[in-house]
Amino acid sequence: MSITGECFCGEVKYNFDGVLQDARSCHCSRCRKAFSSQASAYALIDANNFNWVSGEKLLTSYVGMHGFGLQFCSKCGSTLCGVFNGIVHGVTLGCVNGDPEIELGRHIFVGSKASWETIAGDVPQYTENVPHNT
Ligand SMILES: [Zn+2]
Ligand SMILES: [Zn+2]
Repeated sequence: MSITGECFCGEVKYNFDGVLQDARSCHCSRCRKAFSSQASAYALIDANNFNWVSGEKLLTSYVGMHGFGLQFCSKCGSTLCGVFNGIVHGVTLGCVNGDPEIELGRHIFVGSKASWETIAGDVPQYTENVPHNT
């Protein structure tokens, strides 16, 4: 399927031919800061099928530990994608347009969620990350 996304001001747009995979929400303290929210909402993509349509020059990167970073619009501040060693690794679900036909599959690092957050619904929750054998 063809998926499109854009930032809050609409200057930065991308498209992606394929499916989003492994959608997750991480409630750790670092993701709260990075996403300015109670948690991340993020899904993986195949970078070979990803294209910036407009506004690529407005993108700014913040690369944190271990080569993993985020790219955001320098005009409006929306975080659009995650990058690993300079290659797009996944997209933030908040900037995806319409229905990308995926739902969150897990909440991770729930053990360090914000005191003010209540997680609703029956999506599996994990205190830390998902054990490797699941
Ligand atoms: Zn923007
Ligand atoms: Zn996190």
